[in-house]
Amino acid sequence: MKVLFATPEARPLIKTGGLADVSGALPAALRGIGVDCRLLLPGYHSVLSGAREQREVLRLANLPGYGEVRLLEARLTSDEDVPVYIVDYPYHYQRDGGPYQDASGRDYPDNAWRFGLLSRIAALLASPLSPLDWRPRILHCNDWQTGLAPAYLKFMGGGAASVMTIHNLAYQGVFAPDLVAPLGLPREGFRIEGFEYHGKLSFLKAGLYYADWLTAVSPTYAEEIQREPLGMGLQGLLAHRRESLTGILNGIDMAEWNPSSDLHLSCDYSARAPAGKKRCKQVLQGDLNLEVNEEAPLFGLISRFTPQKGLDWVLQVGDRLIAWGAQLILLGKGDAELEHAARLLAARHPGRAAAIIGYDEGLSHRVEAGADIFLMPSRFEPCGLNQMYSQRYGTVPIVGATGGLKDTVEDGVTGFVMSEPSAPGLWLAIERALAAYADKPAWRHMMQAGMQQDFSWERSARQYAALYEKLAAG
Ligand code: ADP
Repeated sequence: MKVLFATPEARPLIKTGGLADVSGALPAALRGIGVDCRLLLPGYHSVLSGAREQREVLRLANLPGYGEVRLLEARLTSDEDVPVYIVDYPYHYQRDGGPYQDASGRDYPDNAWRFGLLSRIAALLASPLSPLDWRPRILHCNDWQTGLAPAYLKFMGGGAASVMTIHNLAYQGVFAPDLVAPLGLPREGFRIEGFEYHGKLSFLKAGLYYADWLTAVSPTYAEEIQREPLGMGLQGLLAHRRESLTGILNGIDMAEWNPSSDLHLSCDYSARAPAGKKRCKQVLQGDLNLEVNEEAPLFGLISRFTPQKGLDWVLQVGDRLIAWGAQLILLGKGDAELEHAARLLAARHPGRAAAIIGYDEGLSHRVEAGADIFLMPSRFEPCGLNQMYSQRYGTVPIVGATGGLKDTVEDGVTGFVMSEPSAPGLWLAIERALAAYADKPAWRHMMQAGMQQDFSWERSARQYAALYEKLAAG
């Protein structure tokens, strides 16, 4: 089974969110069970400087709208044998900012061209016109940046069966309608049964309309997006396609997120030998200038600071939480207002609260290990990773009753699920957690229950492999 996995980001080369974790881990897990899965990535600076053993495999002399485009083949990392094809087109991809936005957080004005190119190359490699010997049976696309690929493929006359995975429906890639022709899309597709969306060109809708199969990253999210509000305007199409829409939970990298061998920690521990977690808490408190106090329940949050994540509710209950005797660590970056409010909260409670504004992978591991309770009160969460990392690290999560959070946290057994999406709903869950924390044997039991969960990628990979088989069989 040959699968081309087209994605705009993949760990460890380029990451803005959970999609990079999925793209870094799922292809490797698929290869582990015999699927020849290869990545397709844009040639950003970090990809060209990080991918191993690069060689040119293709040169497209005159791609309309672009000119000369090179395709490189490389390996994702030195220790794993995951082949990656890289679209080398410096004019579009080699920039100083992030993959989608410049350094000041503004979307690049030519994103339609940048990800139109990624989609177009994906479709070409999945079609009978591909100049490569390696021919995928499946083209697996991810989020709006690859959404045009199933459309291009259809209009090229078909080829591999296509799968479109929805990691987050909030980002849809909607652009001006006058880009349709320049991007090489036929006018006939610009209608409701196609890639038109309220008079504009929608990359995501193209994928959702033309792909042979759709998946969402958790079973609950696959249901939620067929209705308002989480369908975000696409609920009609998704409900219409429900017979070819399934939810497959993401896994986590069980080697990278393993408290008994985590190189970011100064101490190790496991479900069988949990004592090291206390030391992790002390070190974390010391590092962040919090009072070193074993008894104080330590709450952690690691997140992009966007309205999706419910950080505003945490900020509303923050003072009350600290007054109760707890400590709070907020790690993340994003909306300026939320960053500011997080800093203010920390400033009001020296020694009790810390706000670290930035992206810090090592610290994210130390917070997962050192905290007692993890906060993830998301308004919606397609799958979510930190609630799984938390359970693996014996850090009991408090989560919103949505998407993958609902599918991976068992209320009262491995964590606490909010009864209502609001600040009072969050506070109720916090009170339940604090009561449980005070009952030491019950708390240990909960920590153990979480640490014993199997969130490995292998389980998800088997479900994707079964789907590929079904689609390839027609
Ligand atoms: P999303 O993809 O919506 O951002 P996920 O929970 O699926 O949410 O994945 C987020 C990933 O990014 C996790 O691996 C999380 O630990 C990481 N992350 C988010 N913000 C930070 C940060 N400020 N520092 C370190 N890691 C972060």
